[in-house]
Amino acid sequence: MKTILVTGGNRGIGLEICRQLDVLGHQVILCSRDYERGLLAASQLSSNIIVKQLDVTDEQSIQSLFKYVGDEVGKLDVLINNAGINGSEKRQNKLSKVRDKIQKDYRGLWKMAKAVKPILEKAGITGKREGASDVPMDKARLVMETNFYGPWRMIQVFQPLLAKSDDARIVNISSGMGELGSLTGEWPAYSLSKSSLNALTIMFANELKKKGIKVNAMCPGWVKTDMGGPDAPRSVSQGADTAVWLATEEDIPTGKFFRDRKEINW
Ligand code: NAP
Repeated sequence: MKTILVTGGNRGIGLEICRQLDVLGHQVILCSRDYERGLLAASQLSSNIIVKQLDVTDEQSIQSLFKYVGDEVGKLDVLINNAGINGSEKRQNKLSKVRDKIQKDYRGLWKMAKAVKPILEKAGITGKREGASDVPMDKARLVMETNFYGPWRMIQVFQPLLAKSDDARIVNISSGMGELGSLTGEWPAYSLSKSSLNALTIMFANELKKKGIKVNAMCPGWVKTDMGGPDAPRSVSQGADTAVWLATEEDIPTGKFFRDRKEINW
C-alpha cells in the first residue's frame, strides 16, 4: 500500500484519480482548496480517504499539509500534481448563467437565436479568442501561479518526505496543449503553464534521479469535467487512468511524457 497525495482532489480528474487509487487499496490524501468541498467529495468514496485543505498558491497551506504528512505518516510515496485552472473559469461561470437564463426565459429556437447575442454581449462574452498579444497579464500570472509554480513549490516542499519512500514518484498532470511541437497560440497562458510544467518535469527527473524519485508528466486527453466542458469525448475514468498507472505500475521510467500509457513528444 502506498501513501499518495492528490492536489485538486475534490472534483473532475483529481477526484477520479483518488477513487481509482482507493479501490486499488492505497492510502489516499485527497487535497481540496476548500476543506468542506473535499469532505463532501470524499463522502462519495470510501471512509479510508484522508481529506486535507490545500491551496497550491498559498505557502502557508502547503506548509501545514507538509507538517501533517510528516507528523502523521512520516513519508510520501507519490505526489500527484493535478490541481489546475485554464484561466477562463469566470467566463465559464458566466456562460452557464447565460445558458440557464436562456433555458428559463425563452422557448422556441427562433426566439432563442435572436436572444443569444445581446445576452452574451451584456455578460461581457464576445466570440473573440485571446492570443499572447492581448491576454491580460493578471490572468496569465494566476494561471502560471496555479499550474506551474504550484507544482514546483509542492515538489520542493515534499521532497524530504518523498526521499523517505523506497519507490517515490511524482506525476504532473499536464496537457497536450503544452506540447511544443503543436503550440498554436490559442489559450496562451494555459499552454505556456503546461509547456513550463513539462520542462520542470524533465529538470526534476534529472535532479532527483540520485534520490531514487521518478518524475513524469501525463496528458489526460480532452475530458468531460468543469474544465473540459460537456462536449469533451473522454470520461474522467479514461482521463485518470494514465496518472494512476504512473503512480502504481511496478516498473516505470522517469522524465517522460505520457498519454494513454504511451510515451508522447514534449
Ligand atoms: P476541474 O474539473 O476544473 O478541476 C480542477 C481542480 O483543481 C479542482 O479540484 C479545483 O479546486 C483545483 N484547483 C484549482 N486551483 C487550485 C488551487 N489554487 N489550489 C488547489 N486546488 C486548485 O479540472 P480537470 O479537468 O479535472 O483538470 C485536472 C487537471 O487535468 C488540470 O491540471 C488540467 O489542466 C488537466 N487537464 C484537463 C483536461 C480536460 O480536458 N479536462 C485536459 C488536459 C489536462 P476548486 O474546486 O476549489 O476550484
